[in-house]
Amino acid sequence: MLNIVLFGPPGAGKGTQSEKLIDKYKLIHLSTGDIFRANIKGATELGTLAKSYMDKGQLVPDEVTIKMLESEVNKHPDANGFIFDGFPRTKAQAEALDNLLKSKSTSITMMLALEVEEGELKKRLLLRGANSGRADDQNPEVIQNRINVYNNETFPVKDYFTAQNKYKGIHGIGEIDEIFNMLCNEIDAVK
Ligand code: AMP
Repeated sequence: MLNIVLFGPPGAGKGTQSEKLIDKYKLIHLSTGDIFRANIKGATELGTLAKSYMDKGQLVPDEVTIKMLESEVNKHPDANGFIFDGFPRTKAQAEALDNLLKSKSTSITMMLALEVEEGELKKRLLLRGANSGRADDQNPEVIQNRINVYNNETFPVKDYFTAQNKYKGIHGIGEIDEIFNMLCNEIDAVK
């Protein structure tokens, strides 16, 4: 199986590149943000809970997020592999993911990280907010909070995968196809 963690701050291009990667490598795309947003749209209990955190730019608690991710993985027993987009965002989530995959006799192949500096992220997020109507992309304070949460809670997940020799950083500014090719080169080198 090819199991990729696509890592990076909000606005780094994870969603855009995931779409292209799943198409090329026939993987299942699991974006925890997208799943939460679908739950909000469907007015589920999970959606109501998630919204209270997302509106402020905070992380949804690990326990809830991990349980949801596990149930999504379990829906695809015949998958070629997965792209985890926006997960794991904490060390506890990274450990839970490793344990889940281990129980299925597989593991994370690599963490591909899109590296983009903060000023560029803010510009991209505000533009996305104006175009998509995503509430958490429209408020500069919420955007700043998400970037702070990323720096404090999520960035250390890099060390977790570096220690396993699985971290690959990619410069995330440039043409979409150019960045996509760099990601593919990293994948093809380990496949
Ligand atoms: P995203 O679409 O990945 O930018 O996520 C949007 C929001 O959903 C985040 O700001 C968090 O509030 C929540 N979220 C998404 N993924 C996670 C996660 N792995 N852990 C906790 N909260 C998450």
